[in-house]
Amino acid sequence: MQFFSREHLRNVFTKPTNYINTNRGEEYYKALYEKIRKRLDELKAMKPVREADVKFEKMLDMWELSRRDFLKWVSATTALLMLPPSFEPLVAEATEVMNRVPIIWINIQDCAGNSEALLRSATPTIDELILEYLSVEYHEVLMAAAGDQAEEALEKAVKDFDGKYLLFVEGSIPVGMPEAFTIGRHAKTGVEHVKHLAEHSAAVIAVGSCACFGGVPAAYPNPTGAVGVMDVVRGKPIVNIPACPANPANITGVVIHYILSGELPELDSLLRPKFAFGYRIHDNCERRAHFDAGEFVEEWGDEGAKNNFCLYKMGCKGPFTFNNCSIIRYNEGTNWPIGVGRGCIGCSEPDFWDKYATERPLAASDIRPPGLTGVESTVDEIGLGILTATAIGIGVHAVASLVAGKKEESQDKEV
Ligand code: SF4
Ligand code: SF4
Repeated sequence: MQFFSREHLRNVFTKPTNYINTNRGEEYYKALYEKIRKRLDELKAMKPVREADVKFEKMLDMWELSRRDFLKWVSATTALLMLPPSFEPLVAEATEVMNRVPIIWINIQDCAGNSEALLRSATPTIDELILEYLSVEYHEVLMAAAGDQAEEALEKAVKDFDGKYLLFVEGSIPVGMPEAFTIGRHAKTGVEHVKHLAEHSAAVIAVGSCACFGGVPAAYPNPTGAVGVMDVVRGKPIVNIPACPANPANITGVVIHYILSGELPELDSLLRPKFAFGYRIHDNCERRAHFDAGEFVEEWGDEGAKNNFCLYKMGCKGPFTFNNCSIIRYNEGTNWPIGVGRGCIGCSEPDFWDKYATERPLAASDIRPPGLTGVESTVDEIGLGILTATAIGIGVHAVASLVAGKKEESQDKEV
C-alpha cells in the first residue's frame, strides 16, 4: 500500500527529528543566569518606551488579577521556556520591564485570529494583560487611528525605533497577485509593506500559520500565490510561531525570551522555537494509551468516541505534527482540540490544509488497528527518529495486524 512505503512517508513528514535538550548542566544555567541578570539590570535602567506607562503591579490591580495569578503564570512560562525553577524571579522581572521593547504588529492576508486568540478570553488573562503592557506602537486590529493618521503613526514608530522594534506579522503575503492586498492611499502591496518594515526592525516574528507558511490562503489552488514571511524577508532574524491560531503562551514566550536574553530562542529547521515546537502532539496526547492498545474511534458518536479512544482512524494528524498544545492546551490550559474529541489537523505544519486537514486522503488510508500490544515501544527503540518511528510504528501495527489476521486465518483453516 502506498502509505507504507518509506519514500512516501519521508515526503509526508516535514522534518526528520527534533532534538530538545531540557537539561544543559549546572555550568550552563549559572552562566545564563548571570547573563540574564546583567541584561535585566540594563533594561531596568532604561525608561519605558512610553513615559506615562503604568507600573506592572498597578496594572495587575486595575485588571483585578492577583499576584498569585501572576506567579502561577510565571512558573508556567519558566517551564515553557525550559528554564529551571530558579529562573522564576528573573521571568517575573522580565515581565515587568517588557515595556522597554517597542513592537509593531501588522496584518496582511489574514482573519486576525491570532490577535483574537490573545484578546478574546472570557476573563482577562495575564497573556492579555501583557499585550496591553507591551509597548505596541502600531497594531491594525487594536488601534483607534485609521487611514492617513494610522500611516503617520506607523512611519513615526519606524523612525523613532529604527532597528530596535520587533515586527510581528500576521497573515500571508500574496506574491502571485500583489494587488490582492494593498494598504494606504498609495496602495502599498503586502510585499512592499513587509519588506519595508522588516528592513528597519530588530527581528521579525511571524505569528500564525498564514504568516509562517502561507496557511489557509496558500491552500490549493493558492489563487494569490500566498507565501509566508520567510519567503519574502531576507537578512533579518525570523521566528515562526505557527498554528491556527498561534498559542498566546508561545507568543508571550518568544517575547519573554527576547527580553531575558536579548536573543531569539533556539529554532528548528522551520524557524519554529524549539521550546514550543520540539514536541510531537502524539507523544504527549492523553489518548496515546488507546493508540498503543489499538482502541480507536471508528465513527463519530460510537462507543470509542464516548470512551475517548484514539482519533487516528478519524483523521488525527497528531503523529505528524509538532506543537505543544497537547501540553499547554489553549485558553489558559482549559482544553485543546483532541481533548474535546476532534483529531489534530496539523495546523502548525507547512501546507497543513492540503496535506493534513481532517479526513483528507492520508486519514482515509486503510490503517488497521494493532493486533499485538507493545509494538509501538519496540519500534521507538529502533531509534529511527521521532517521526519516522511513529510512521513505521503505524505501519508495523498494521502489518502486525495483518500477520495476526493471516495467522488466525491459517489456524482457522488448520482447524
Ligand atoms: S493519533 Fe491523535 S488522538 Fe491518537 S494518540 Fe496520536 S495524537 Fe492522540
Ligand atoms: S491539536 Fe493539532 S490542529 Fe489542533 S491546535 Fe494543536 S496542532 Fe493545531
